[in-house]
Parts: sequence; structure tokens; C-alpha cells
Amino acid sequence: MTAARIGLTGGIGSGKSTVLDMLRDLGAVPVDADAISRATTASGGAAIAAIAAKFGPGFITSAGALDRDRMREHAYAQPDSRRELEQIIHPLVGAEIQRQVDVALAAGARCIVFDIPLLVESGRWRARLDRVLVVDCEPQTQVARVTARSGLAPEAVQAIIAAQAPRALRLAAADIVICNEGLTLAQLRNEVEQVAHSFGL
Ligand code: ATP
Repeated sequence: MTAARIGLTGGIGSGKSTVLDMLRDLGAVPVDADAISRATTASGGAAIAAIAAKFGPGFITSAGALDRDRMREHAYAQPDSRRELEQIIHPLVGAEIQRQVDVALAAGARCIVFDIPLLVESGRWRARLDRVLVVDCEPQTQVARVTARSGLAPEAVQAIIAAQAPRALRLAAADIVICNEGLTLAQLRNEVEQVAHSFGL
């Protein structure tokens, strides 16, 4: 049994979560790479023992999670430590993703959507995907949506946009683009339905 493996990405506020919810309604199985990654370093996460062994128990909070502030400080002083941490986390994330994929396939999933905010930035995902779906909109729309949702200042949202992969690079990596600009949610859903159809849903 095979299923279409779709990578979903887009800039902040582009509408990724909205599109993912719609795809889920249409029968896609979502795999949230970010949540899986965060879970490995949360309290009791799969990476905690290895982090304590590599960096010392002082990098683990009393609740049993990675002490992110301490690790961030350490990474400033010792740039290699970021890579060392990734070497611990990445294989665990890969294994958990594979486990979730196996569960989805065993349940007869026709389409698995990997929600990967840093798909373009990290580059290591492409080979595992059949197609890359990018949700796109104008930067001013991103700013308007995120300020409305979060109360962040427009400048703060612009800074986040500037730190993400450039829009042109994301579009260049896309096999399919959903242009979430000037669409009502009902119109967006129509677009998503058409795309979902091409994924076998
Ligand atoms: P983030 O990167 O911050 O997680 P995102 O790309 O997942 O954002 P969403 O959370 O899906 O974006 O959308 C941002 C906000 O914009 C949400 O409040 C969502 O309801 C709204 N939104 C997205 N698309 C539309 C649309 N076509 N019409 C109206 N509202 C929309």
C-alpha cells in the first residue's frame, strides 16, 4: 500500500494550518514535524537521556525537559553544540515520523501530509516527499493575518518573515502552489479540494 507523501510549507500566516485542517477533513493524515521535534526535548522526551549524557544533567530542567535558555547560551559560546544537539534530535524525529507513517499506512491512508515549516530551509526533507505544496500570499497579507491573530506588532511579523526562507525560494521549491490571497475560506476550500483530488483523496 502506498500513499502520496506531500510536504506542506509556507511563510508565517500564509494559511498552512488552515489548509492542513481542510486536507485532514478530506482524508489526509497529517504528520507534524515541528511538534514531533519539540516533543523529543519536552519533559520525558526521547532525546533527554542522550542530551544529559552529552552535555551534562545541568541542561535538563527539574521537570525533565531540555533547558532551552541554557542550551541557547551554550550554543552562542560553542557553535558546534547546535550541530551536536541536532545529531541527537534528528534521528529520533526521523524514527517517530516513520512510526507515524507506518501507522497511517497500516490504517489505509491514501495521502500523508507532512507539515514542515522549515522544509525549504532545511533541505533534508525533499527526498522523502512525492510533492511539495506551498501556501503563498503577499507579505502584507501575512502581516495583517498574524497581527490580527497574535497581537504582535507589524515590525515583529516583518522580522519573522525576513528570517524565514525568501518567498521566491519557497515558490521555486514548490510542485503545487495554493495562492491564498483574496480568497474567502470557502474559496480556499475549493482550491484545496482540487489539489486533494490530485493527491488521490
Ligand atoms: P503560522 O505560520 O503562524 O502557523 P499559518 O501559515 O499556519 O501560520 P494559519 O494559521 O492557517 O496560517 O492562518 C493565519 C490566520 O489567517 C488564521 O487566523 C486563519 O484563520 C486566517 N486565514 C488564513 N487564510 C484565510 C482566508 N483565505 N480567509 C480568511 N482568513 C484566513
